[in-house]
Amino acid sequence: MTRLLHRQIHAPLPVAVSGRGLEIFDRDGRSYLDASGGAAVSCLGHGHPAVLQALHAQLDRIAYAHTGFFTTEAAERLGERLVADAPDGLDHAYLVSGGSEAIEAALKMARQYFVEKGETRRRHVIARRQSYHGNTLGALAAGGNEWRRRQFAPLLIQTHHIDPCFAYRFRHPGESDEAYAERAAGALERRILELGGDEVIAFVAETVVGATAGAVPPVADYFRRVREICDRYGVLLILDEVMCGMGRTGTLHACEQEGIVPDLLTIAKGLGGGYQPIGAVLLGSHVFAAFRDGSGYFQHGHTYMGHPMAAAAALAVQETIRAERLLERVVRGGGHLMNRLKERFAQHPHVGDLRGRGLFLGMELVEDRESKAPFEPALRIHARIKAEAMAQGLMVYPMGGTIDGLRGDHLLLAPPFIATDAQLDEVVDRLGRAVDQATRAARTQS
Ligand code: PLP
Repeated sequence: MTRLLHRQIHAPLPVAVSGRGLEIFDRDGRSYLDASGGAAVSCLGHGHPAVLQALHAQLDRIAYAHTGFFTTEAAERLGERLVADAPDGLDHAYLVSGGSEAIEAALKMARQYFVEKGETRRRHVIARRQSYHGNTLGALAAGGNEWRRRQFAPLLIQTHHIDPCFAYRFRHPGESDEAYAERAAGALERRILELGGDEVIAFVAETVVGATAGAVPPVADYFRRVREICDRYGVLLILDEVMCGMGRTGTLHACEQEGIVPDLLTIAKGLGGGYQPIGAVLLGSHVFAAFRDGSGYFQHGHTYMGHPMAAAAALAVQETIRAERLLERVVRGGGHLMNRLKERFAQHPHVGDLRGRGLFLGMELVEDRESKAPFEPALRIHARIKAEAMAQGLMVYPMGGTIDGLRGDHLLLAPPFIATDAQLDEVVDRLGRAVDQATRAARTQS
């Protein structure tokens, strides 16, 4: 009996009572190895002493001060840290309470930027199919997952979608990475021209696609081309690194590996590592300057933005990542995990692709490896794997609709950066059993 409207009404949940390192413990004494950081959130695992200490200290000073009246040391220090570590050209931070709020703010910043500059005709947002930017209405409108959008479509602002850069599914046989990158980025230019070069506000994309497609990195110079196209038409580039950012791919920001800097960069999950709800938009200096030299404010705001407890947690998380040199660990641990996944699954009849970067890895499940044919959606392979994994005491993050919102199954692995090689080996062992059992049961049924 519960008085909460949970995500699923008919699926009772275990009650989590404590967490330590990679493990979460439930009320019945079962433990779960957290190989997905929830949804790529818990980058430091659970109960990290440095973050707990920072939270206690902040609570003793002040828990909340409204940003319409005060700033706080915690928020200011976090702003300093974020800008010091940001790619060149991003020089201010706007603090919110999560990923969807960060995307909403970025979309409005992009529009207001052009209003400040007198380019009021600009109104179109272009994004990509098979991307996820959050569940609030603006973020949902930017997202390209058909299933999530369908019933809310009448409420969504108009947006425009192009195909993602998704080599396993969209690169033609025999096409080189370079040729595919050119074709995929070319779709953006064509859409900008269709809409009118001076009427587009922004292009929104996840640097490495997370939840909807399963850790899909871009190929070759796709994002360099995207950056050039945006610059050619004065369109702002919003990179959504809510899931793939803050170290998850081995560099603090995933776009560092693409050699480009966006105009607006959204971050969230790994920013606070789950210790507090927090997200942020990092602003290019030209965007900030347009507000500063124009109306003098950004017309937006939330009651909990810049929350001192959230800022203190995020600062402690980010300082711990630096102090413990955890980005190096992400690269090494990610390499180890990928090798173990390849050993276990490269020949698996139902694993079509293993992909990703750092400790942000994806596995795509197929009915047939040769033709890449997906399982029947009704078999809900992704849900079976999640259930089998939980029964093994393992948390992974599976999802269906990988190809087009309906067909295809994948799972995400996003373990905490502190995971040891031995823990990652255990993840692969348990996952192997879960995938074998789920696919065997589905084959029997089909
Ligand atoms: N953007 C991306 C890329 C995400 O993966 C998510 C959440 O999964 C969001 C935005 C929305 O973040 P939140 O759930 O914190 O609102």
